[in-house]
Amino acid sequence: MSDRPVRVRFAPSPTGPLHIGGVRTALYNYLFAKKNKGTFILRIEDTDQKRFVEGAEAYINQSLDWLGIHVDEGVVQGGPLGPYKQSERMDKYAAYAKQLVNDGYAYYAFDTPEELNEMRSKLEASNMSAKYDSTSRMSMKNSLTLSEDEVNERLERGDNYIIRIKLPRNEEIRFHDVIRGWIVFNSSQLDDKVLLKEDGLPTYHLANIVDDHLMEISHVIRGEEWLPSAPLHVMLYRYLGWEDTMPKFAHLPLILKPDGKGKLSKRDGDRLGFPVFPIEWTSPEGDISSGYRESGYLPEAVVNMLAMLGWHPSDNKELFTLDELIDVFQLERVSKSGAKFDMDKSKWFNHQFLMRSNAQELKAMIEDQLLPIHTQKGEEYLIQVIDLLKEKVTFPSELLSMGQYFFDLPSSYDDKVQRKKWNEEVSVHINAIINGLVQSNLSKASQIEEYLDNYAEQNEVSKGKLMQPLRWVVSGQAGGPPIFDMLELIGLDEIVKRMRVVNDKF
Ligand code: GLU
Repeated sequence: MSDRPVRVRFAPSPTGPLHIGGVRTALYNYLFAKKNKGTFILRIEDTDQKRFVEGAEAYINQSLDWLGIHVDEGVVQGGPLGPYKQSERMDKYAAYAKQLVNDGYAYYAFDTPEELNEMRSKLEASNMSAKYDSTSRMSMKNSLTLSEDEVNERLERGDNYIIRIKLPRNEEIRFHDVIRGWIVFNSSQLDDKVLLKEDGLPTYHLANIVDDHLMEISHVIRGEEWLPSAPLHVMLYRYLGWEDTMPKFAHLPLILKPDGKGKLSKRDGDRLGFPVFPIEWTSPEGDISSGYRESGYLPEAVVNMLAMLGWHPSDNKELFTLDELIDVFQLERVSKSGAKFDMDKSKWFNHQFLMRSNAQELKAMIEDQLLPIHTQKGEEYLIQVIDLLKEKVTFPSELLSMGQYFFDLPSSYDDKVQRKKWNEEVSVHINAIINGLVQSNLSKASQIEEYLDNYAEQNEVSKGKLMQPLRWVVSGQAGGPPIFDMLELIGLDEIVKRMRVVNDKF
């Protein structure tokens, strides 16, 4: 069985926008599939029509597309074992529930809501857990307690019924989890979960197992919150006679709030001031939740950041492209314990990828911020500005404000430089240098640097004393991109103009 082709699925329910925890599950499935030359399937689990949210499915597709997580088989892509949306597979499930009943692994239950409530209150009153299980089922109205005739009569009459799994009493259920090792549950911890609902539709548990089987899923990689369901799933595989091809399980650790106290929730984003959704989401009621994309994150940075939340490579390398991740990813290296979300680290990743991006791409990300002043010197000029500044910013949106002085006279002058570094003597030197550059028409970065070096030597003044004031005169700033590149780009005419402004002002 070890040479079974790898087929994994990401199986979200379209009940709202995809939280970054879900995106990480999709990513790990994708990395594992690609690493093992397998297939990544996107299955939409929309059996619970009550929780269906308009737009959620499209949102899932857009998010995965934006991040470069390509789906091999799915609703949009098609594939040999579709349909890939559970609401389009509704004819497949009931027969399996009936098979389980016939084989003695499940039963019809006819209890009314009142009867169920009564059972719960009775059990609670005697301090027992209010479960429909191997003990309590024997005093309820189901095909285990009613006569065969009565059951048939009820079924023929069209009485409402549900089908529940019949779990054994006090039996050990063991299974192996790729990340957590052997997991043991006792069947008494579980209840006889509903498999088929009154409307004849399957619950999550039944549909999920049937589909994993029919779609030949080899590994189930999903969030830790599904661990308590896994023993039930193992029993379903056994009872349906599919144990030999049961997928391997891997339950991923939770993503925790930054302080480590509890799971990062959908509400935390707006509360703590960072996005928890890949792209902006507008709810059907019109409420907007921020997204990584709209906040200026590069998809590569989000992928890298999410990959490292719960997984790490065998060395200290931190920066990976998606292809590099595919290369090194190992499910066995996913940690068991929760991973704290770290906003500063997310920004760090963005900065790293932004520095490595090409300026054209970054320009496209700030297109809607561009004013005539930014383009008046031409496209090439703007691209060079972006290239000079990209090492200095975390988000593309900071480029234009940080680079204001590339497009216009400085809008302000750093006060500290003026107080500490600017004086009569320095002013004389800077004026002399700028005049010298103009006279000899030295405008290239290397020429400017050489001129400054010579000037400093001849006039016995340290170069260090001149550089920051020179930057300040031209940009108003105390720091910024490499100074000689900046001067070359701004150009001699503009430098002279700015010298005059400073001479008048200070
Ligand atoms: N539909 C479930 C969810 O929303 C799938 C869980 C699983 O992967 O089995 O997460």
